[in-house]
Amino acid sequence: MTERVGIALRTLGCKVNQAESDAFAAVLVRSGCRVVPEDACAVVVINTCTVTGEADHKARKAIRRALALPGAPTVVVTGCLATIDPAGVASLGERVVVEPDKSRIPEVAAALAGSAGHAPGGVGAPTVVCDVDAPPRARAATPRRTRSRVQVKVQDGCDTRCRYCIVPDARGIPRSVPSDDVVSAVARLAAEGVAEVVLTGINIGRYRDGDVRLPGLVARVAATGVPRLRISSVEPGDVTSELLEVMASTPSVCGHLHVPLQSGCDRTLAAMGRPYDSAAFAAMLASARAALPGVVLSTDVIVGFPGETDADHEASLAFISAAGFARLHVFRYSARAGTPAAGMAGQVPMPVRSKRAAAMREAGEAGALRFSGSLVGRDVELLVERVDAAREGRPPLAEGVTREYVRMRVEAPAAVPGALLAVCVTGVAPDGTVTGTVA
Ligand code: SF4
Repeated sequence: MTERVGIALRTLGCKVNQAESDAFAAVLVRSGCRVVPEDACAVVVINTCTVTGEADHKARKAIRRALALPGAPTVVVTGCLATIDPAGVASLGERVVVEPDKSRIPEVAAALAGSAGHAPGGVGAPTVVCDVDAPPRARAATPRRTRSRVQVKVQDGCDTRCRYCIVPDARGIPRSVPSDDVVSAVARLAAEGVAEVVLTGINIGRYRDGDVRLPGLVARVAATGVPRLRISSVEPGDVTSELLEVMASTPSVCGHLHVPLQSGCDRTLAAMGRPYDSAAFAAMLASARAALPGVVLSTDVIVGFPGETDADHEASLAFISAAGFARLHVFRYSARAGTPAAGMAGQVPMPVRSKRAAAMREAGEAGALRFSGSLVGRDVELLVERVDAAREGRPPLAEGVTREYVRMRVEAPAAVPGALLAVCVTGVAPDGTVTGTVA
């Protein structure tokens, strides 16, 4: 029987969790540990999310699944659920180890894996991603997730306290990775051939390093020469004229903004504690479009927030349908214990939430198809993330994302992951993926 060795990593939730898990993997590899699939591990690390009741449910299910893996691995649980409910997580099984302090995860996992988890020399050369909570020496250590696109965590925490959100309790107050560390991390990635870096954080508009705020950070990072730079989700109030100016004057920055709306209805926005109304959001969209002609805008929306009436939902749907988003992420409200919204009157029945989610998704899909259709005939830049070469008698199929953050598949005989290809868009598949011909 094969000896089970090594450490598996499982990540739930947001891109920040993914960036953090990448950081764990890099530190483990650098210290000589093996990072392996779950079916061959002695230890599983689960990086959890707790943003909604559903997220908690998924996290508990993942922990139970890991406990049931053959070989009975130790299950190390970190992340937001481990911070908010350590006792509840620990009660899931005797082999569960709760470690809310993410900076300790590599050390804890390596110790639990023991000598069986260590392999002399490690695997491959480490790359660099920033971890805001890591001690300074470890802050810039880490592997890339793919050779082509890397999430770089530059900020953690939030103090906005939207009424549905537990994140401020789970992740604490805003704090930022020093800009010098971010710049050197991205410079190393660029030197290693990474084609796109995504600046990620819980609320990156709160980025602060002395006088350097998000626009200054973007300008400094772009100066490293990384071919493509993308900014992850930015709150509406942080889409400032300074940020738009930097984006407009920096060719490597993708003209794509993901700005969470959450509702297009003013009554619901006020109930959520979101610090803007629909008119202010519309004005922000207009400024973005004026400053960045052709900018691609995407958003998140929650349906079925407590107190949301049919009329409120219709108002939200009408706003979103008119706003021209290229992509819409729809979330059915799910109460998170410990948030003000969980105790609010007017909880919307689940079937109504589901119906509203379906209507909203339909509007989102229509917008996405409209946007993808508008690309037909245009030249775009595809970042190849994977290549399917095993196609009998046909050229390899390259798949990846464009600058517009649209998924694309093209036949490309010489494509390799990480390549940037000029492609003319020729069509849209039913799933919204665009197709084209390589120039
Ligand atoms: S801005 Fe609101 S929704 Fe986003 S993390 Fe902060 S509190 Fe949560």
